[in-house]
Amino acid sequence: MRRIIIHWTAGTGSPNAVDMRHYHYLIDSNGNVHKGLFNPEDNENCLDGKYAQHTGGGNTGSIGVALCGMCGYKSPKDTGAYPLTAVQCEKMFKLVSELSKKYNIPITSASIMTHYEFGQKNPKTTSAGKIDIVYLPPFPGIPRDKIGDFIRAKVRWYSVMMQKDGKP
Ligand SMILES: [Zn+2]
Repeated sequence: MRRIIIHWTAGTGSPNAVDMRHYHYLIDSNGNVHKGLFNPEDNENCLDGKYAQHTGGGNTGSIGVALCGMCGYKSPKDTGAYPLTAVQCEKMFKLVSELSKKYNIPITSASIMTHYEFGQKNPKTTSAGKIDIVYLPPFPGIPRDKIGDFIRAKVRWYSVMMQKDGKP
């Protein structure tokens, strides 16, 4: 695996059956991690059709991590009935850090990114124009083009803390 791509589901605060097919890991609004139907390794080769389709044009080699919520999101002033929560985002930072260690994926913008960032970098794919993640409700001051950097900084912090603890 060479990449981790972070999403929101655009659904409710809990994963549904469709979400479970599309992401490897899903974090609900209470911060619980749900394992999706497919394993990250299923995305090493996407030619057999048995893989998690989370990022149009970028599924091969990519682990999909999703935050459940943001159904009905329109703007920072109107985030819908299921805004992402602080405990949920924190769990995501930690999980992505653990995955980066497990799969030896460096914490850089080329290997850990939001779906939005992937779409920006790959405008000819169906990921172009994706809005996950352009806004983090628990961290309202961060502009959309800085959210990837913010997430990577948090992931890096967890990675340093895990090294200090000596825990995986
Ligand atoms: Zn997405």
